[in-house]
Amino acid sequence: MAPLVERFPSRCPHGHRLGIRRMLVGWDNQCDPPQRIWVCLRCNTVMHRHDYSWPE
Ligand SMILES: [Zn+2]
Repeated sequence: MAPLVERFPSRCPHGHRLGIRRMLVGWDNQCDPPQRIWVCLRCNTVMHRHDYSWPE
């Protein structure tokens, strides 16, 4: 089993710190391929996984 740890942006584009209780984690099925999204609870900015590049 892979560990249930996901990477997520440490801050939203507006500089709000993100965390378990500071963001919503979603899944955008409208995209191809579908991708993980995060929503900042401070400003409701939606962040898409493809906007962030991490080393695999
Ligand atoms: Zn924000």
